[in-house]
Amino acid sequence: MFDLGDYYLLSHLRMEGKYFLKTAKDPKEKHEHVIITFEDDTDLRYHDTRKFGRMILTPKEKLMELDAMKKQGIEANSEELTKEYLYQKIHSKSLPIKTILLDQTILSGLGNIYANEVLFSAKINPFKKGKDITLEECERIKLCSKQILEEAIKSGGTTIRSYTSSLGVTGKFQNHLNVHKRENENCFLCQSNIKNEKIGGRSTYYCPKCQK
Ligand SMILES: [Zn+2]
Repeated sequence: MFDLGDYYLLSHLRMEGKYFLKTAKDPKEKHEHVIITFEDDTDLRYHDTRKFGRMILTPKEKLMELDAMKKQGIEANSEELTKEYLYQKIHSKSLPIKTILLDQTILSGLGNIYANEVLFSAKINPFKKGKDITLEECERIKLCSKQILEEAIKSGGTTIRSYTSSLGVTGKFQNHLNVHKRENENCFLCQSNIKNEKIGGRSTYYCPKCQK
């Protein structure tokens, strides 16, 4: 969300969108579709090879009328997130906790990679049903979400797709992943083999021993 005074510009990167800081003199690259030039001739350039990204410009007073905003749950790394909120949202559901964590109307900001990592850190089996998750486990989900997202942001995010490195910018958090994309490798805590199974159609990596 960009605060533009009377307006917000909302930008969703979808799969491939990225922002780069450049100067106004730098040549325009093929996939730079939006360029914001600042008074000091710095450019913020929106780069999107597949054009899946979306932008919405909205007057501030209309922000909460947008469908995209109405449906957003509490941000996974925000101070507002409490174990009671999670428990209340989760405890009536019979879906696996992994699927629930990806529901952006409950918790906003956890994608597949981070949901896998949060459940490993919280030592919760991804197949466990929402209704079997305890208040104490909700507290662990809350703490681990905050910690993992903050570390990931500090590392510049997680870059899995290889071609992004050709753009000269990659996140570093992929070097800190404990389970995601580590199928058949040893768990860092117990040396068991990491498993990969689909839950709700999404690849779910977990340690069967640490996440009972
Ligand atoms: Zn383990």
